[in-house]
Amino acid sequence: MRLILLGPPGAGKGTQAQRLVAKHGIVQLSTGDMLRAAVAAGTPVGLRAKAIMDRGDLVPDDVVVAIIADRIGQPDAKRGFVLDGFPRTVAQAEALDRLLKERGLKLDAVIELKVDEGILIKRIETRVAEMTARGEKIRADDNAEALKKRLAAYRAQTAPLTDYYGRTGQLRTVDGMAPIDTVTRAIDALLEPARTTRRRAKPAAARGASRARAAKAKTARGRAAKRGAKRAAKTSRSRAAARPTAAKGRKRTAKATPGSRKKAGRPVAKRGRSASRTGARKTRAKRLTRAR
Ligand code: AMP
Repeated sequence: MRLILLGPPGAGKGTQAQRLVAKHGIVQLSTGDMLRAAVAAGTPVGLRAKAIMDRGDLVPDDVVVAIIADRIGQPDAKRGFVLDGFPRTVAQAEALDRLLKERGLKLDAVIELKVDEGILIKRIETRVAEMTARGEKIRADDNAEALKKRLAAYRAQTAPLTDYYGRTGQLRTVDGMAPIDTVTRAIDALLEPARTTRRRAKPAAARGASRARAAKAKTARGRAAKRGAKRAAKTSRSRAAARPTAAKGRKRTAKATPGSRKKAGRPVAKRGRSASRTGARKTRAKRLTRAR
């Protein structure tokens, strides 16, 4: 499953992305997280992005597109992904379309979390207060000044994406102001048709695969049977060759039907032996008669 979560900062994209990851076994690809990691690691990308991010502006398209191009090709993204914070401009969306097309991949849905901007600022203030209370590190761009910039960037550069994906027919909208679990259920409900289609598509493919497996097994069985028959014929030929003539005769007699066996009486070899004995007796009698 390949999804995009759209929505302004603080709309709850990260939370819902984590739930989608747990439910569908896909990966969350957050460009914000990846950029923050690059900043922390002091990579060339991180050094380039740091000041821009701290101000609340958008990092250049080519930077984030390169990050995503690399990331979606990695093995853990094979089962699917949820893009969180990407794309953020129409140029990024177009680049993503090209990337997916080149790799023969398709998006299942673009989910927009619709929220009230006034409430967003309150949400982020609450999040910052809670993190401070827990002694956690606050993001450099989680301050009133940067937040205003991030919202302005969203309105000007990211909000047009709803039109973009509206035109492609992939956009689905949920009420991001509802409680977290309600938002999750709404997302699950709108993804159900996509999952059902996948489930239906899978048995067909599986059927094809099992048909192929059955045909292969049949061919293998046929080959094994032929091999067995050849082996049996060879064995009986060589046994027959090794048997003495008398035994061969006996064997033929033994194979005869009960009727023919009655007629034939004793086996050929035995009959042969007793015939020669009778002959010897007759010769002896003749000799005796002549002597008398
Ligand atoms: P986020 O964690 O998604 O709120 O992103 C934090 C910051 O990272 C943003 O304010 C931008 O400066 C930068 N950023 C993240 N994703 C993108 C993107 N797709 N395009 C440009 N800048 C981004």
